[in-house]
Parts: sequence; structure tokens; C-alpha cells
Amino acid sequence: RTYAAKIGAVLDLFESVCAREEAELGRIDAIAGDGDHGQGMAYGSKGAAAAARAAIEGGAGARTVLVRAGDAWAESAGGTSGALWGAALTAAGRVHSDDAAGTPAQTLEAIRAGIDAIQRLGGAKVGQKTMIDAAVPFLDALGAQDPADGAEASRRIVEAAVVAREAADATAQITAEKGRSRVLGEKSLGTPDPGAISFSILMAELGAHLA
Ligand code: ADP
Ligand code: MG
Ligand code: MG
Repeated sequence: RTYAAKIGAVLDLFESVCAREEAELGRIDAIAGDGDHGQGMAYGSKGAAAAARAAIEGGAGARTVLVRAGDAWAESAGGTSGALWGAALTAAGRVHSDDAAGTPAQTLEAIRAGIDAIQRLGGAKVGQKTMIDAAVPFLDALGAQDPADGAEASRRIVEAAVVAREAADATAQITAEKGRSRVLGEKSLGTPDPGAISFSILMAELGAHLA
């Protein structure tokens, strides 16, 4: 299988996981947000997977597949998280050439670039109750060195996803005053950030899929 086809399989996985988690993510977002996070992730990942499939059928390489998938995610999802996930996929694509082999080191580089894009575009800092609260500990746990092989890369993603999940769960303790929106009031205390939860779930599934 080509690297582009493997990327397509990951996006198909994200689509099915987001469909599975849609109701729960919506429930969490409804407590302190506007309740549409499950729907946004489901629509975004579905649009991204469809765009990737079309690009792969047309013979596109890794870079083009990810860039088109990112554009489609942002367009299909709407909402803040859709724009951020779309930018992440597009940035992940831009570290590759279309004929990238997809080495384990390239895969980790693409993940790091995607998270960098979320930080740059969203401008959130750790402690503001956003997906950054999961993504930054994930990045730290992933490490900067190149993996020796695919098994090491997937093991590091799985372990970093566990760290991300703990950090996402811990956002339940963040009070609204410290969070990104005071308008949310105290309502969000005791409930984790939905975007941090969905981020950690998708990274856990990615690591397991690559293993
Ligand atoms: P919306 O907030 O537009 O309804 P979603 O409900 O899909 O969009 O996504 C909400 C999630 O987006 C939040 O839980 C949070 O994790 C994430 N988010 C919001 N603003 C930012 C930001 N500036 N940086 C990073 N993540 C953010
Ligand atoms: Mg929302
Ligand atoms: Mg919304």
C-alpha cells in the first residue's frame, strides 16, 4: 500500500471514531459550550475522508491527499475545532512531498506539524481549557527524536495518547475564569473540554491503528 492509501485509511478510521463518539462529544459540549462538537467532528472527519478517497482515486500523493482532506474538514465541519483540525491536516501534508515514502520519522514529523498549526492558528495557551491542554502534553510525551522503526513510532503515539487523555480529563478542574470564555460561567467546572477529549481519543486510535 502507498503512503497516500495509508493516510486514507487513517482518515476512514477518524470518520468512524467520530461517528461513534458524536453523541458523547455533543453531550460534553452542551454543558459548557453550544453542543455541536460531536456534530462538527463527525461532519469534518467525514468530509476529510471523502476528499482523501477522491484524491487517492485520482492518483494524488501524500501531500495532496492531506492538504485536500484538511480543506474539506474545515469546510464540512464549520466551527472552531473544524478550522483547527483542517489546518492541522493541511500543515501535516505540507511537511511531505507527494512521493514521500511515509517513514516512521516522517509520520511523527507530520503529527508535530499538525499540532504546531493548531497552536499557531488558535493562539491558546495551556490552562485555557482547550484542545491545547491535551495536545501540548501529547507533543512533550511524543518526544523530538526520530523513532528507530514503525513499532517504536506507534508505541510512542499510544503512550503519548494516554498522557493526552489524562490531561484532557484534568481540564474538568479548570474554572471558567481561567478558561477561554468567561461567558461560559461556572458551568464548565467538573466537565472536561470536549476538544481536548476528542483530540486524545483520535490520537489513541491512531496509535493503535499504526501498531
Ligand atoms: P465551536 O466552539 O465553534 O462550537 P466546536 O464545538 O466544534 O466549535 O469545538 C470546540 C472546541 O474547540 C473546544 O472544546 C476547544 O477544545 C477547541 N478550541 C476553541 N478555541 C480554541 C483555540 N483558540 N485553540 C485551540 N482550541 C480551541
Ligand atoms: Mg461547539
Ligand atoms: Mg459552534
